[in-house]
Amino acid sequence: MNELAQFLGYATKVFGLGRLIRAVRDQRPYAQIPTRAVFLSLLMGGILRVGSYLDLSKQTKRRRWRNLIHWPKPISDDVFGYVAERFNLTDLRATLFQVNRRLKANKAVESCKINGLLFLSLDANEHFASRSRCCPACCQREIQETDGEGRQQTVTEYYHRYVFAQINGPKLNVLLDLEGIRPGEGEAGAALRLLGRIRRVYGARFFDAVTVDSWYVQGPFLKAVDKLGWAWIVVLKQERMGVLQEAQALGAGQEPALRFHDEQRKRDVQLRPVKDLEFSQTYGRGVWVVHAHETWMEKKIAGGKKISQPQASDWWWMASEELQGYPPRVIYQGGHLRWGIENKTFNELTQHYHLEHCYHHDPVAMLAQMLILCLAFVLFNAYAALHSQKMRLGQVTLKELAHDLDLGLEADLPWNLWFASG
Ligand SMILES: [Zn+2]
Repeated sequence: MNELAQFLGYATKVFGLGRLIRAVRDQRPYAQIPTRAVFLSLLMGGILRVGSYLDLSKQTKRRRWRNLIHWPKPISDDVFGYVAERFNLTDLRATLFQVNRRLKANKAVESCKINGLLFLSLDANEHFASRSRCCPACCQREIQETDGEGRQQTVTEYYHRYVFAQINGPKLNVLLDLEGIRPGEGEAGAALRLLGRIRRVYGARFFDAVTVDSWYVQGPFLKAVDKLGWAWIVVLKQERMGVLQEAQALGAGQEPALRFHDEQRKRDVQLRPVKDLEFSQTYGRGVWVVHAHETWMEKKIAGGKKISQPQASDWWWMASEELQGYPPRVIYQGGHLRWGIENKTFNELTQHYHLEHCYHHDPVAMLAQMLILCLAFVLFNAYAALHSQKMRLGQVTLKELAHDLDLGLEADLPWNLWFASG
């Protein structure tokens, strides 16, 4: 069975792929090539993991590619850049929303729940950094470097960073939206804009709680999350922080409330909750802290012999009052879940989806390309996790599956029929 035909069949049936493609507009005054042909090429480029607009342009020389996108001629890399600069970003975000809403309605994200709660993870990722190229949305920083003659000098580096919102689970990872960090702005500012939009678009009930890293441990940010209607968990890392010191003092010598073996992380865990703490005056409400003491044996080879060395680590999470009624294990799991961002999704996105490659240095084009990559990631992963027989049987890796989709275009099928209906 042709894998690409299967994928397109699945995406059409479950998400109405053709409708999604047609719903995206761009602002070219004299468009010759229809937006849908460009958008579909970019989306297929994301799914098939094509690394640049130049490579994508070569793909559009394939006869069946042109049949699929309903455009008789190849599309140049300049056109991809030109259209990407002019995409309607609200339309692109709406396609992600449609797909995620369908996944939720189909109960596909149930497996991401912890004790009945769905967590949204927020984290920032740097897109790329460069010395010379600069656009109005570039952030800047000074870095020290040593020149060829050993002299220290300060150079300016330009970079782009985005905050991503996603729901992670053992089976499925979905990306809800992303927001660029503006020049001179911190992560929390971009994160709040992102959360505000997510609440407007997805609604307050799409998930239950937000889990973030220690960058976001700020009274005004946490207060704003409360106001938006979500519970939250944050990692505490700064030793000087009053609430951490208080939790450490109150928790010292306390018997753990729970001991268990975490099969997945292969660690013995002791949890000590410390309730009814005060975080800061700007926050104004009560919080609680859960301390996890984790131990495990690390196997090493030293002097030609296998040895086991005991290891330990400590985690502290602060959580909002609403979660105080839940068992501390929920905080442990919710707190660790956000690391899925770095470990799984970002790895996958960077290695296979060229997330850190700048396709075209323009603020709108970069964001549009990111949104298209997110859509490609969610569609492909939903297909792999929920539909593909080969994946279920463990016969292929995700990379091989993407390659099978690409090979699918070598076959003579009525490709022009997929998006023919209007
Ligand atoms: Zn820039």
